[in-house]
Parts: sequence; C-alpha cells; structure tokens
Amino acid sequence: MSITRSTCCYCGVGCGVLIESDGLRITGIQGDPEHPANFGRLCTKGLSLAKSAASLTNRALYPELRLTRDAPRERVDWSMALDTVAERFADIIEQHGPDAVAFYVSGQLLTEDYYVFNKLAKGLVGTNNIDTNSRLCMSSAVTGYKMALGADGPPTCYDDLELAQTVLFAGSNMAYAHPVLFRRLEAAKAANPAVKWIVIDPRRTDTAVMADLHLQIQPGTDVALFNGMLHHLLWEGLADTQFIAAHTVGFAELKTLVRDYTPKMVAEICGILEEDLRLAAEWFGASPAALSLYCMGLNQSSHGTDKNLSLINLHLATGQIGKPGAGPFSLTGQPNAMGGREVGGMATMLAAHREIGNAAHRAEISALWGVDSVSDRPGLPAIAMFDAIKAGKIKAVWIVCSNPAHSLPDLANVRLALEAAELVVVQDAFANTDTVAFADVLLPASSWGEKSGTVTNSERRISRVNAAVATPGEAKADWEIAVEVARRIEARLRPDKATLFPYAGGSELAREMAFAGKPASTGVEMIFNEHRLLTMGRDLDIGGLTYAKLEQSPQQWPFPAGATQGQARRYTDGVFAMIDGKARFHAVQYLPVAEATNSRFPFHLLTGRLRDQWHGMSRTGRVPQLFEHSAEPSLTMHPLDAERRSLKAGDLLKVASKRGNLILPLEVSDSVASGTVFAAMHWNGQFLNSGGINEVCSSAVDGKSAQPELKHAAVRVEKAELPWRLVAAMSMAGDAEGDILALHAAVQPLLQECAYASITLQGRENPMLVLRVADVAAPTDSRNSTAWLERLFAALNLQPGADVLQYQDAKRGLIKRVAWSGDVDVMNPNVLRGFVLAGDIAGNEALIAQIGLPWTGPRMSVFAPRLAAPKDRVICNCINIRESTIRAEIAMGANVSQLKAKLGCGSVCGSCMPELNRLCQTTVV
Ligand code: SF4
Repeated sequence: MSITRSTCCYCGVGCGVLIESDGLRITGIQGDPEHPANFGRLCTKGLSLAKSAASLTNRALYPELRLTRDAPRERVDWSMALDTVAERFADIIEQHGPDAVAFYVSGQLLTEDYYVFNKLAKGLVGTNNIDTNSRLCMSSAVTGYKMALGADGPPTCYDDLELAQTVLFAGSNMAYAHPVLFRRLEAAKAANPAVKWIVIDPRRTDTAVMADLHLQIQPGTDVALFNGMLHHLLWEGLADTQFIAAHTVGFAELKTLVRDYTPKMVAEICGILEEDLRLAAEWFGASPAALSLYCMGLNQSSHGTDKNLSLINLHLATGQIGKPGAGPFSLTGQPNAMGGREVGGMATMLAAHREIGNAAHRAEISALWGVDSVSDRPGLPAIAMFDAIKAGKIKAVWIVCSNPAHSLPDLANVRLALEAAELVVVQDAFANTDTVAFADVLLPASSWGEKSGTVTNSERRISRVNAAVATPGEAKADWEIAVEVARRIEARLRPDKATLFPYAGGSELAREMAFAGKPASTGVEMIFNEHRLLTMGRDLDIGGLTYAKLEQSPQQWPFPAGATQGQARRYTDGVFAMIDGKARFHAVQYLPVAEATNSRFPFHLLTGRLRDQWHGMSRTGRVPQLFEHSAEPSLTMHPLDAERRSLKAGDLLKVASKRGNLILPLEVSDSVASGTVFAAMHWNGQFLNSGGINEVCSSAVDGKSAQPELKHAAVRVEKAELPWRLVAAMSMAGDAEGDILALHAAVQPLLQECAYASITLQGRENPMLVLRVADVAAPTDSRNSTAWLERLFAALNLQPGADVLQYQDAKRGLIKRVAWSGDVDVMNPNVLRGFVLAGDIAGNEALIAQIGLPWTGPRMSVFAPRLAAPKDRVICNCINIRESTIRAEIAMGANVSQLKAKLGCGSVCGSCMPELNRLCQTTVV
C-alpha cells in the first residue's frame, strides 16, 4: 500500500487528494489535510475517484486507426498511429498551409500537456488554430479581467471566503459546482450570521435557497441589474470616490450611462422587486468587504464579457477590490483552465499571457522557443473552428481530452463538421465518448492517477498531480504523444534543425518512478521549467517555483525568483496591470439574450449542473452510486406551466429549438420560474438516444470573448406521444465476474434506434443498469422488433433458461422476462437478477427495488400486479441516506443538526447540506 499526494481532476477548486494504491490499482482516496484548497475535505465526486478508476472497461488502451474512410478502426501499433498522424498533418500543412489544421484541447489537460500542444501548434506548425473547451467555460471572465484590470486571473484568494461580509453569487450554483468552497462559506456564515448572501440566478438552486436575498432575474438580464445596482449605490452615496479618483479611468462615462438604469426600470427588466434591488446594492456597497463569486451563468452568454465588466464596475466603484474579503472572484469550471491560459493554449493568446497581436510578444516567444516566427494570424476559437472544419477550410483536427460531439452547442452542426473533416484524431483516456465515434485515429492517453504534472486552481494556486499507478495497456501521457508526433512532423518540416521538443523520459520512466514511490519528473519537469522561463517578468511570473517547492506545498502565482511564497491577493496597492496602473470602468449597455422567445419557441431554456455528475460523465458516469441523487435525465418545468399544458411528472416531452430536438422526461418544480425550463448539461449519447441538451442549444457567441451562449436558448416544449414503453433492469447480483460498465457498453448501441431511450446506473455493492425506452408503437412498426428485443436480451444476458421466466401475450404486445441468479450463483439461486418489461411497465419501480434481494414465494408471482413505488432519491451519497428517511425524521421534529447526529447525513463531505436545509424548510411537520 502506498500513498501518493495529488490533486482532484474535476472542478476548479483544485482539492488536494491522497491516493491509496497497491502499485497496480488505486484502492482508495482521501482529502489531503495539508492542501490549502480543501484542508482534507472532498465532495461526492472527489470521494468517488477511486471507484471511477476501478475498471478498465471503456478505457482507450491501444492505438486504433481507420484504414479507409468507412472502415471500422483497427488496433495498430504506436509507430503506425504516430506516423500516420504526423504524415497526414504534414501533407495537409504542405498542401494547404498551416491554418488548414487545428487542435482542440481541454481544460482537463495538465499544464505540461497544454504547453507541448501549444508549442506544437504555434511553434512548429505555425498556426494559432489551437483552442480548448475552456472557451466554453472561462473566456468571458478572462476578457472581463483583462479589459477592466489589465490581466487575466482573479485578484482574490480562497481565504477571502471566510473574510467577506457580503457574498454576491452571480450565475453560480456553487453548492453543486464548487462544493468544497461552499462548505467554507457555510462555516463562515454559521460562525457569523451577520454575513449577507445575495444570490442572482433565474433558478432557485440549492445555493439560492440558502441566501438572505435571492434575485430570481429573467435570463440574461444581469447587466441591467448590475447597472441598476450601481445607479442606486451612487444615489445613496455609497461609491468610494477616493478610490475611483486614485485608481480608475472611465467613471464619468459609466455614471452617465447608469443614470438611465433606474431601480424601477431595472426591476421591470429583471422581473424582480425594486426594493430587493435596492437592498442588494446597499448590502454590497455598505459592506466592509464584498466578495462576488461568479461562474457559467455570467460567462456562457452572448454578452458574457459585458456581464463580467458590469459586475467588476460595482467592485471598482465601491473600492471592493484588493483588500481581504473583497473582489470579483470568477470560479474556474475545469481543473486546469487557468493552467492552459498560463501557457497560452488558446487561439487568441500566446504563452504567459502574451498577445498574438503584439509584435514584441511574438518576437519574445520566437526567441525563447528558437523558431523563426510565430504567426500573427489569430486562430479560430471553438465555434468558428468547427464551422471552418465543416466548410472544409480546416481539413484535419486533433481533439485531445475533450468531447465536442457532446459539449459544443448545436450538435447537429458539430457532427456535420466531424464528418466533413479529412482527418479526425481523438486522443483520450476513454474510448466511449460521443466524439470517439468520429475518430479516424484514436490515441490512448493516460488518465488521472496515472500521470504527472501540474494544475492551477481558481485562486491561481499551482499544485502537483502525481501518478499513483501504472498507465494501463499501451496508453501514454498526453504530452508524450504530442512530442512523438511533433518530432515526426519536424523531420518533414524542419529536417536540419535541432528538435523543439527535447523532453526526455515518458510513460515508462514515470511508471518506474511511481512504483518506486517517487514523483515522476524528468521530461515533464523539463517542460514545466521551460514554461517557468517564459513567465519570468510577466504578471504570472513563476520564476521562483520548482517541482521541489511544489512538492512541499502548492503555491499561488505570481511567485518570482527569490519569493518564499506566492501572492495571495493582487492589486492590494491599488496599482492595476494597465500601462498607467489604473483599472478601467466600462460603460456597458444591457442587451437581451441572443435568442428571444416567441410564439413558436415560447420557453427560456436554461442549462446547468447536477450535484454528483461532472461534465460529459466519461468519469462520473462510471460510478453507479453517483446517479442516485439525480437518477434520470429530465426537463424541469414550473407547476403552472405543466398544469396549463395538462402535463404531469414523468411525461415525455419533445424539447425543440431552431437547431434540433430531443426527448426528456418531465420534472415539475417551482425551482424554475414560469416560462422557463431547465435541463442538466451532462447527459449525452452514452446515456440517451440523443447527444443531450446541446442538440438544441445556441452557438451564438459573445463578440469579445467568443464564448457561446450555452446557458440560454428559446425552445418549444410539447408532449411526445410515445405510448409503447419498455423498462429493463439488470444487476450484477451474484455475478462475481460481472462488470456493470461492460453491461452498459453492450446495451448502449441499442439506444439510437428508439424514439426515446435512456440508460442510468444505480446501486453500490450491487450495481445495476436501468434502461427506459418509449416509442410510438411496439418495435414491429418501426423496426424489426424481434431482432431488437433479441439483441437486448443478449446484451443483458437474459436468454431463455432454467433461471429465466417469460410471460408473453402476443395479442396485447406484451413480453415480460425475468432472471434469477441461479445461472451465475448456485449458492444463492433465488436472488432477482433483472428483468425486461415490454408493452406494460406497471410496477417496474417495485421490481427494481427487489433486484439483488432473495425472491420469496413462487417465481410466477413476479408477474403479479404491483403498485408504483414513489421515487426516493439518495440525498446523502456518503452514508447512503434516502429522502424518505430524512423526511420521516424531520416530520418527527428533527433539525439539520439532529439529522446529522442521528443519521450521519451531511457529516462526511457535506455536499447534501444545502438540501438538508431545504428539506427542513419544506417538509410539513
Ligand atoms: Fe474535486 Fe469536489 Fe474538490 Fe471540486 S470540490 S476539486 S470536484 S473534490
């Protein structure tokens, strides 16, 4: 057993973890008590990391290549895969120029991976066509910071969470998206109830439920709100005129603009009470320390940069910046979106926060890399990049650690682009993402727990990521694959010159060092040191940081040579990163969302996150217990809207926009306002018969940041008439060799043939898969039913036999088949293993609840009518406590403390604390 210190690979909180391993497998995970981001805490996602790494099913283990365009990919050796990628890229570059190829990378790569890909694109190939899924996440925040403060990166730090007296959450469901930081805020508020929380969100999220003031604004009206708040602040004399005069530029123009944003008018635009707006402004302006925390609700917008700027205006006008507990704090979505920007891994920037349009910056990079020049042509950001692929301008794309066939908006357009490309290279640790289906070449990459490098979290803190176990199969570190291809391209494009990629020692050495209990370095450390060199003298100077220092403790940048620790807060002296040291106000007008609702598309669609899932679920979707908090995909609608349309919970709805449609089950909840619907962004083609909610989302982008408006679209919602239903459930009960992920892989190809289908997993010791299907009629009408059902039975291992019972009523189109465990577990033959109910699914919930349990009574009784069982979510995923148990205790008078003491819920990771509070507020005693 060994312990390896590393960092969680999910969100931008960047929690330190201790990985337990036996050298071959990751066996457990704990929070690192010494890491300053989390002090030992982890959320449900982090706590399940070991489980996500337990199986190799669906891992990409060997290189694969499509030998002809329509042929399936075949396993090949590394040299063939690498030679093919290098030759095809070099051919296209020589024939069509460097901008005919593109790289689409990821905020989940380590900084060193990012560095090599950026150097490959901009240094070797000579194109700035390298963008990243961070474009979908943080680019509006980055543009806002640069325009207002002069430099990318937040001025704040995590210690400010405890020091703030007013906390303004804007477009952030922090309780779900950044849970460990939210625990720190909860503790600070519990210690000092005078701390005020203002939540600005069109949804009543679990974060909003805990607020002192929730401003449930109309979607996209944030700029109007911030301008209205500033109007009131000025009226009340709450502006810091000294700070404005000494440290800012542009206030007069802004003052003129916000004169028109009267609280009355703004309250009408936003759909909130005028007195609530005034109160929010006063709490913010009069606070000794006001901190704003914001995320995708501001960034993923066609006016995302303006939303950021108008919020930063509030901070500058009140001097709420550069001091403890105050400042505009953008919460990074991905684990290393910031590290990617540090190395310049985007289409619109160069390394170490340098600009493509700045000739001196380009010359510095050329000199440091030893190349003749760096292109002055801006690269194409994500949406434009895929449009250019579709138009044939970009002929080859190399996608790394990202799943654009699920995560980009307007998925039909993305699929057309991937089909149109001459060459699609996908480099990933997982072989079952929606994007892998389009790959001509699949390059298997190592995953979390198997790779080494660094990441930078939301507070600019750089942490080490270390390998705990060997990379499986023939997978290699991402940077290593990039180096191998780069050296081959160099042989074609600059044959007589020294390599630009002299990094030695790859996966083999990393493995040996991991086995020896030492951090893997060499090549990856060389890359870090080169990156370090490029930062020296820049705002993010990390000249004084080394791997050795980072092994001792994670550090914030800047950390110049000679420093003993990083800088917690920026701009504490009031000097901003502008040429004159002064921050800039920006007079930004409110503009509505890109797509207005109308009679054809009358609903505002909002998108967001679930508590226990991460992005496209390629990792969290491997852990059945993480489905139990939100067990099915859904579309949330206000009760009044549902009633007006005679809809009830569970009805299947067709959600359609101008771009596409998908079907989702209805969830009725007043957490959304009337006229608004909500869907989670995680579900994709591995779990649905569609690509997920991005089928309908808009690819309208912010004009300044190029970030798409993933948070809002105008949609139509109508009942899907799909009366024929099927529910199948199958567990691994008694099957010691069974692998629930293999079962998922076997069933998933059947989804696409149905009008609606979803797969979810559930369970802990006894995981199971649940398939739900709906169609216009029994499959005979639309496809060969026998073939489809037989394929389903085969996938579920539900073939006729002594332990399988079948009931069939051909006249009524019913087929029911039920399996017991006798064929896999002779010692316990009467445990219900699974079933398929086709044509009549009544009582399926009760049967699902029986799976894994011994069947009492005659087996034939399994076909007896059963009552529908109410849904009972797992609220506390650490202790496995369901909603019914919690509500029963509350009904008997328990409060949150008593629930924690008696049931243990809320006492491990704390992710369920907001919900425990909400249940206490809403349960009738
Ligand atoms: Fe990982 Fe959760 Fe920490 Fe985010 S908050 S880094 S998901 S443990």
